[in-house]
Amino acid sequence: MRLLFDAHSHLSEAPPSLPEQVRVVCGTREADWEAVLAHAASSPEVIPMLGLHPWFVAAAAPGWEARLDALLRAHRAGVGECGLDFVREAADRPAQEQAFRLQLRLAHTLHRPVAIHAVRAWGRLLDLLRGEGVPPAGALVHAFSGSLETAATLQAMGVFLSFSAEGLGSTRTKVHEALRSVPSSHLLLETDDGGDLEQVIAAAAALRGVAAEDLAARTWKNGLRCFKELMA
Ligand SMILES: [Zn+2]
Repeated sequence: MRLLFDAHSHLSEAPPSLPEQVRVVCGTREADWEAVLAHAASSPEVIPMLGLHPWFVAAAAPGWEARLDALLRAHRAGVGECGLDFVREAADRPAQEQAFRLQLRLAHTLHRPVAIHAVRAWGRLLDLLRGEGVPPAGALVHAFSGSLETAATLQAMGVFLSFSAEGLGSTRTKVHEALRSVPSSHLLLETDDGGDLEQVIAAAAALRGVAAEDLAARTWKNGLRCFKELMA
């Protein structure tokens, strides 16, 4: 049997689950937290994560922090997706940073893994991770798109780097370089918004010059390590 670990996905694009697969499914805002928990309750292969994504910080209803805290205490779920995304001119950076800091603290306090989204915010991401500390239960940056230097810094901090189908597309040469540079001990793969996991594994294996079977086995082991607090 071939075991596959999908380190980051979402409910809306959920592909049909396979029995030999583990899938991390992330909530991104309060409106989908209960649905993620319900999906995980009926799908033993799903690891639920609850968080407030940077795109949705501005629209979050007051008091979301306390409601997220309560849900995480009541359920075996990780923290995320959360993080920083400074692509849009209008991004409210201080509000994003505050929401991210708060969720990092929750991951520390509750000893849960955290799934991080970071786009064009690498300097601040590293600042915040240094300031708060990397949550010891596990952390990954999903759909990694940073530089080789950032990849090396994160890996040295113990953060796993996950790559998506989008990042492995033929024009993303910077992402390809980062993928090749990550030590196999800290590499994860993901479908994110609907990619096919087998194809992601095949593309990543080709870029790293290894056999897809070996990469599947390696990322399976890494997934179990990164999310060990939430494994049955
Ligand atoms: Zn995502």
